[in-house]
Amino acid sequence: MRDQATWKRSFGHLPKPRRTEELLHSQVCKYLKLQYPKVRFKSGMEGERLAGGSNQGLKVKSRNWGAGHPDLVIYHQVGVCCGLMLELKKDKPYKKDGTLKAGEHLQEQDAWLYYLRRNGWIAMFCWEFDHAKRVIDEHLNS
Ligand SMILES: [Mg+2]
Repeated sequence: MRDQATWKRSFGHLPKPRRTEELLHSQVCKYLKLQYPKVRFKSGMEGERLAGGSNQGLKVKSRNWGAGHPDLVIYHQVGVCCGLMLELKKDKPYKKDGTLKAGEHLQEQDAWLYYLRRNGWIAMFCWEFDHAKRVIDEHLNS
């Protein structure tokens, strides 16, 4: 990997830091593996799988209840709480007034999170690594 000075000499500018949902996803999963190696979790970016032109998305979709299932499931029961489910986003999904931004997929994800909370899970949107880390630490250390 090139250092920043070499990169700037070669291309005249520094690369923009990547801020994607996939990157956040990787960071959170790596953190879980390093910090809590015995805690089982499952990650899957439904939006990534359902996008694209192949019919793979339709196959996956037909086997599930509906769109919007959270990206990350952490199987760790605490008391009556079944575990933790996080829907990872690259950007904040809320407007300044605290309401959800527009978008059918966002509404579906929010409905899933609401359903899960009513069924004993901690479930929420996370769009920054520090937030996800704090939520995970609080849950797994309680
Ligand atoms: Mg997501």
